[in-house]
Amino acid sequence: MSFSELGLSPAIVKAVAAQKFPQPTPVQKVAIPEILNGRDLLGIAQTGSGKTAAYALPLLDKMQTNRAFKNRYVKALVLVPTRELALQVGEVFLSFSAHIPIQIKTLAVFGGVSINPQMMKLQGTDILVATPGRLLDLVESKAVHLSEVETLVLDEADKMLNLGFEEEMRQILALLPKRRQNLLFSATLDNKVNAIQETLLHEPILVEI
Ligand code: AMP
Repeated sequence: MSFSELGLSPAIVKAVAAQKFPQPTPVQKVAIPEILNGRDLLGIAQTGSGKTAAYALPLLDKMQTNRAFKNRYVKALVLVPTRELALQVGEVFLSFSAHIPIQIKTLAVFGGVSINPQMMKLQGTDILVATPGRLLDLVESKAVHLSEVETLVLDEADKMLNLGFEEEMRQILALLPKRRQNLLFSATLDNKVNAIQETLLHEPILVEI
């Protein structure tokens, strides 16, 4: 099965071709068509499964078709546990969007570094990849508006909970529009992840690799 058979637009298929991925991974085969259809998703997948592209590709695809009449506030929010993952996920979005004709801006923000340079780069960001604490700081400073978020991704949710971000995650969830698509990825489905997915996801498709 090829990437074009998953329902991705020609521009996105071209962006994938530039990465020389021979074919979709198992998680991509299942997740990409479901995400394009607007379903919520629970992905139990490890690093190395191709999970990042599994959500990045359909998110970019939807964004390039839907964006024409919208304000330029954040449309997709990807929450991650660590600075390393924020940078890595940001790079994945950038590597694909470089090949897309419509400009889609991705920014990664995380704690442990000065907040001001991040604030200055935020304007016009379509896809924000963020660690929870730094995101709340940026919201408090009114540098980020979450009122137009259409898609929420929790990546490595188990790690985020194990690092003690539960309260921050709840605060962020309360700031998002009620109508949105939710994608939750986790290496394990433990009790804490299960509790979050039950409150967060609406009739999700389960992808277990
Ligand atoms: P991830 O599971 O998202 O951390 O991805 C692990 C690695 O697999 C990354 O280096 C990706 O570039 C690579 N990758 C993702 N999708 C594919 C694919 N369909 N074929 C080959 N490599 C891939």
